[in-house]
Amino acid sequence: MRRTFITTALATVGLAAGLALPAFAQDKGTVGISMPTKSSARWIADGDNMVKVFKEKGYKTDLQYAEDDIPNQLAQVENMITKGVKVLVIAAIDGTTLSGALQKAADKGVKVIAYDRLIRGSKNVDYYTTFDNFQVGVLQAGSIVDKLGLKAGKGPFNIELFGGSPDDNNAFFFYNGAMSVLQPYLDSGKLVVQSGQTGMDKVSTLRWDGAVAQARMDNLLSAYYTDKRVDAVLSPYDGLSIGILSSLKGVGYGSKGMPMPIVSGQDAEVQSIKSILAGEQSSTIFKDTRDLAKVTADMVDALGSGTEVKVNDTKTYDNGVKVVPAYLLTPVIVDKSNWKEVLVDSGYYKADQFK
Ligand code: BGC
Repeated sequence: MRRTFITTALATVGLAAGLALPAFAQDKGTVGISMPTKSSARWIADGDNMVKVFKEKGYKTDLQYAEDDIPNQLAQVENMITKGVKVLVIAAIDGTTLSGALQKAADKGVKVIAYDRLIRGSKNVDYYTTFDNFQVGVLQAGSIVDKLGLKAGKGPFNIELFGGSPDDNNAFFFYNGAMSVLQPYLDSGKLVVQSGQTGMDKVSTLRWDGAVAQARMDNLLSAYYTDKRVDAVLSPYDGLSIGILSSLKGVGYGSKGMPMPIVSGQDAEVQSIKSILAGEQSSTIFKDTRDLAKVTADMVDALGSGTEVKVNDTKTYDNGVKVVPAYLLTPVIVDKSNWKEVLVDSGYYKADQFK
């Protein structure tokens, strides 16, 4: 009698646990998530958000950061393949260095999603999730045009241009998007690049390194601006903007008779929002990493269940071997006028992070 009771009780517990299973423990395998670096808050948010949504969907995750070291990222990805991940989600440091590893992945039937940054030179990239990268550049340059008053006919103004890392496909999209807006003003003489340095071959910043941007800005200021004012700086990323701004401050910009130039940015990092509030940086771009994580996890789920994978772009992202079907999200320009609504009211940040 007693024994029966215990057996029944155990069975009941088992049943209860069994009923609870589908929501969480239904093990869909492990997703390998390879992120470039922890040196920038956005990638930490990307990683955290992905772990959260993948867990909710019943996946295990293996999240690794490579600290902007290419061999490190390669080793991490290879290790994930060896350990038997089902899917790889990769934000590459250098989009061209992973072909060998991705071939191994393909041989084992591991699907690959390029996350935020396109992986180039490999046929073994199944999908790409990102933001509209050309539009990022359009928005960055658009905010410079607005804040200078170029549309109202003001000018001429002096501008200097910075690009992102030349091994990151996105950097070219940002730059080309920005130039699509700036070029007419450069052509008409309303914008002048005193250094003459234009084109990604001259303005890029290896590994998105703020110190490199700061050093280049120092050089530009001492070579071309001792008797002229720089009115705007196109910067593609908050981490570069911070370096550029400290260089500008170093020669007296941001003081009474010498207002800061208009300086753009990207990623809406907390420090840069504070800089915007302090009247230093002019704008940034918000990319909601919660949405990118969700779109990516939905894609992985669809791949796993054999249902249709949602994409909204099948033309733009040619990786040199194939056009990778992509899902593009919409970037948002942020400045003093809308930061609270976009960043705090949406729950992305807490208001007290800006105190
Ligand atoms: C991302 C940007 C980021 C940059 C530097 C790019 O690939 O799209 O959001 O600012 O890398 O980390």
